[in-house]
Amino acid sequence: MKPKTNTIADNANRWIANRVKHHQITKYLNDGKCFIDSEKIESQLWSNNNPDSARVKDILQKSLAVETLTFDETACLLNVDDAELIAEMEQAAGQVKKKVYDNRIVTFAPLYISNLCVNDCLYCGFRKSNKHAKRKRLSIDEIKRETEVLVGQIGHKRLIVVFGEDSKTDVDYIASTIQAIADVKVKTKCGFSQIRRSNVNAAPMSIEDLKILKEVGIGTVQVFQETYHRQTYEQVHPQNTIKGDYLWRLYAMHRAMEAGCDDVGIGALFGIYDWKFEVMGLLSHAIELEEKFGIGPHTISFPRLEPADNTPFTQNPEYAVSDSDFRKLVTVIRLAVPYTGMILTARENAEMRRQILPLGCTQTDASTRIGIGAYAGATDCQQGNKQQFMLGDIRSLDTVVRELAEAGYITSFCTAGYRCGRTGEKIMNLLRCGKEGQFCKLNAVITFREWLDDFASPETIAIGENLIAKEIREIKEKMPSLYPQLMSFYEKTKAGQRDMYF
Ligand code: SAM
Ligand code: SF4
Repeated sequence: MKPKTNTIADNANRWIANRVKHHQITKYLNDGKCFIDSEKIESQLWSNNNPDSARVKDILQKSLAVETLTFDETACLLNVDDAELIAEMEQAAGQVKKKVYDNRIVTFAPLYISNLCVNDCLYCGFRKSNKHAKRKRLSIDEIKRETEVLVGQIGHKRLIVVFGEDSKTDVDYIASTIQAIADVKVKTKCGFSQIRRSNVNAAPMSIEDLKILKEVGIGTVQVFQETYHRQTYEQVHPQNTIKGDYLWRLYAMHRAMEAGCDDVGIGALFGIYDWKFEVMGLLSHAIELEEKFGIGPHTISFPRLEPADNTPFTQNPEYAVSDSDFRKLVTVIRLAVPYTGMILTARENAEMRRQILPLGCTQTDASTRIGIGAYAGATDCQQGNKQQFMLGDIRSLDTVVRELAEAGYITSFCTAGYRCGRTGEKIMNLLRCGKEGQFCKLNAVITFREWLDDFASPETIAIGENLIAKEIREIKEKMPSLYPQLMSFYEKTKAGQRDMYF
């Protein structure tokens, strides 16, 4: 008889060997070619060098009209070096965000479930060859305890649930974690609290697996391409691993769309290759999704490579992105894809977040912990050998919300759009014409009130109430027909009713 351990290893190897479904790649190729054309990108970047200021100003007008930019226009903005023009671009990026999303910022928390991983990405603390990493996969009870802290003590309503890639965290396990999170409901000071939306950041999946996640009710499917430059991709992702397959990852969102998951989040890990190339790659991805499915990405993420425990690749990487280039790339993404949500994470330190957020970001995390089991169990905020990388900002949600309110941003805990079917193409159209903003403005006030009453410190309540008063005045003036309903919801919320939305 075969020893039991061999059978387990055989099953795991079979799982790996069957993971990539080649026919689910080839069906989307154009004449056998993928949508990233490296030579074309290089030549567009080269031929749009030395942009003149009149052209740049014209392009900014197009962004302000909430139109996706072309490759040449984006390459032109990426090549601007004149300080005054850059300042104009940054101002326009802020205006585009204001036009589409007003002064709202959505907050969320990452919830790391498992660092078991069969891949060996050179930059990641979870890679299988990292013997320092303490491996752990949370049990369902542990996930519930993590969620209780997130909803009962901090007040989060939205998560990004993160996984390594392993047969022990297959789609059935992922689905059970999403269900466990949704089941947690905690009594709060004035009402109750619950996670209302779980987005997932996990390895690319097949259409069949994605349909299972759609069924269980996940939010955005997030997969970052890491680098769109194929040669570099193949160098940093060993070719004998699942993640080594560039095309399987590149078409993850096509499969998500086909499976009915129409809110998709794309991203690049900045610091692996040339940042201008990556912005062009993100734009190519957005345009490809718009052309093939009529819907662009719901969100774009732009994580910068951070140091990770026992991970030499992250020390002095060749393509490290400076702070000023980072500002520019965020600005250009905002201008190139004006309708998309943009996610700024706690990888960046507090000062950098203050600088980057006004350039058009729409979502950010706070009270962030990325160790496995770190919300309920850990005393240290940073636990090198249980984390994928080190965080730049570990400030509390209360502190971040207060700082945002002081700067005039209202933190929205709203997830209503998704639950009313305002997703995918519907939300894209509403965003482009500014209509989604009406509902969002109302829901931001209600959900901010909920959070202030249940979780905020007295200082944050004081600042938050001034902001709410200003928002209510604006709604009364600009949306008089919706004002009475808003006030009815608002008073009920103050009395302890929860989860009312437009
Ligand atoms: N294992 C899944 C995968 O690779 O698709 C989930 C992703 S991983 C847990 C989340 C993201 O973190 C990665 O896609 C990558 O962009 C980012 N990441 C990995 N190592 C990083 C580092 N050293 N610094 C910053 N971000 C990193
Ligand atoms: Fe695994 Fe994802 Fe880390 Fe790569 S980035 S080693 S796939 S967890």
